Amino acid sequence: MKILVVDDNINDRNLLLELLNADGYEVTSASNGVEALEKIRESKPDLVISDIMMPEMDGFGLCRELKKTVETIKIPVILYSSSFTDREDEKLVMEEGAAAYIRKPFEIKPFLEKIREIITGYKAGKISQPMPGILDEKEYLSLYSRRLMKKLENKVFELENANKKLETALSELETIDRLKDNILANVTHELRTPLTHALGYVELAISETDETKKKEYSRRSRDALLRENEVITHLVEAAYADKGLLKPVFETMNVAQIINETIQALLPKAQAYSILVSCEVKDELFAKGDRNQIKHVLENLLDNAIKFNRKGGKVEISACREDEMVKVCVKDTGIGIPEEKMGKLFDKMYQVDSETTRKFGGIGLGLSIAKNIVEAHEGRIWVESKAGEGSKFYFTMPAQERT
Ligand code: ADP
Repeated sequence: MKILVVDDNINDRNLLLELLNADGYEVTSASNGVEALEKIRESKPDLVISDIMMPEMDGFGLCRELKKTVETIKIPVILYSSSFTDREDEKLVMEEGAAAYIRKPFEIKPFLEKIREIITGYKAGKISQPMPGILDEKEYLSLYSRRLMKKLENKVFELENANKKLETALSELETIDRLKDNILANVTHELRTPLTHALGYVELAISETDETKKKEYSRRSRDALLRENEVITHLVEAAYADKGLLKPVFETMNVAQIINETIQALLPKAQAYSILVSCEVKDELFAKGDRNQIKHVLENLLDNAIKFNRKGGKVEISACREDEMVKVCVKDTGIGIPEEKMGKLFDKMYQVDSETTRKFGGIGLGLSIAKNIVEAHEGRIWVESKAGEGSKFYFTMPAQERT
């Protein structure tokens, strides 16, 4: 049995060739309708299997040509397609006198069965030759062009969608690229600045003979190194958090005590910015958590509340029991956060003002580390803020009854 496979896609064509060969057919192929017509006239196959969308002459055209001529009218034609898949397409295929219409992708076994059924049916005269329903050329052309128009509309729609997706992906890539540049510049800046200060003051201290000045230079150098240490600690912690290594070691903590210790540690900074820090926590409030880690969260929130405040502003830290949890709030009267930026605030290296020349120090890791710590304590961290008015950062941790 001879079959002619017509498809412009070489992969689809080869697959069919191999499948049909393996099933015992003698198979030849063509890559479009014009080439197929020539081969059909030469070798009179028992069946033609053709794709619909092809250059030069498509499957509709090929089928129509075959059904116009006496020598070829009896050759059964199967048309298949992955793009002409509407019911209307199928109708047109059948009205052109095709023996069957198959949607791509198809399942191999039923496909081969269908071929066998058609070939033997035709040979035995069990299946009668369908006659083309549309004989009038005008009617055919109008139906055919409607199908093509529909196909084109679908393609244009698909292309528009793909285009939109590409545009979004491109703009996301550009943002990521910009972010990456900012992050690199920012981390470099934040690591280099304190080091430059420390080195400068050490040089001054070495050549200074006045003991008081020498001490002052040494103190400034130490402060700069502490800042450097803080940046490095943040980077290391972020790497730890990424690997899920921030496992809390739980102990009972007095919440007021831990908050007061944090305030004491940051008091010099608050004074330098003329920020008034106050605390409202009941003495008998206890929580269960990793002392160092919770202190770290508090330090970060308080540091931000001072850093992103205004001169002469206020910070209030409060904590209270809420069911099984302790809820802590760090409230400031600072610059606030625009609503559209709040969703990303706890993302790694996200900074509302991402300019590398920004006046605030930091590399945008504090809140993401804080979130990791709080979540490792099965708590929640969130923010309420109004741009220009100030922010309230909240977090929860498990409460502990006093023992
Ligand atoms: P960093 O302070 O190192 O930039 P964080 O992760 O601690 O990083 O904070 C991320 C960003 O969130 C900050 O850069 C800032 O834009 C914003 N932010 C954090 N806390 C406040 C706050 N209290 N007020 C206004 N903006 C804040």
